[in-house]
Amino acid sequence: MERREELAANLAAVRERIAAACAAAGRDPADVTLIAVTKTWPASDVEHLAALGVRDVGENRDAEAAEKAATVSDAGVSDLTWHFVGQVQTNKARSVARYADVVHSVDRPRLVRALSAGATEGGRELDALIQVDLAPPARDGSSSSRGGAAPADVRSLADAVAAAPGLRLRGVMAVAPLGAPPGPAFERLAAVAADLRAAHPEARWISAGMSGDLEVAVGAGATHVRVGSGLLGNRALRP
Ligand SMILES: *Cc1c(COP(=O)(O)O)cnc(C)c1O
Repeated sequence: MERREELAANLAAVRERIAAACAAAGRDPADVTLIAVTKTWPASDVEHLAALGVRDVGENRDAEAAEKAATVSDAGVSDLTWHFVGQVQTNKARSVARYADVVHSVDRPRLVRALSAGATEGGRELDALIQVDLAPPARDGSSSSRGGAAPADVRSLADAVAAAPGLRLRGVMAVAPLGAPPGPAFERLAAVAADLRAAHPEARWISAGMSGDLEVAVGAGATHVRVGSGLLGNRALRP
């Protein structure tokens, strides 16, 4: 029971932070979905969070996610939405399409085709977000990229997702660049999202913000925040 109480306290604190950020931005907290990123944590934590009212969970590695989703489902918890937030190798796309409800990290045409094939084979419909690379391009051509498509490529990828059987285009996702303030980066993401909505009005989701920067992301219009350590604890200190 101790772990559940710890998670309950963390969850209350994170919900407080989201509520305060929404109040500061004049937004309705009902418009911000909290995704509990449970990577590296056991299936029992997912079950605790589900019992505490969390409906959205996120994972970033296929093997771990597949096993955890099966364990949680075998335990009788069936009303969860599974978000895949990590980079998807093309050869893992079929597997991801079996248990994920939402894939946040669509970043290349080959992945669109592979996810679409996996979804249609399994008779499933996946929500898909285009991951946008917010790293400012370096002068020497090097990249501090944390994944994602260049902003200039978002539109064509989104068109491909919208046309792909088994995929539903929902919007964009990003991770703030390292070593730069997140505010301007999330504003750039909001601009990319607005451009995308002009062409695809249904693509209204903006997945941005993690434990360290969720307030900034909510201020810039995030509809989904992905919180790991703030809810589950510090992986480095995990017993
Ligand atoms: C791990 C992870 C998160 C959660 O990060 P925390 O800093 O632990 O909240 C969010 N998004 C992605 C893509 C992640 O890999």
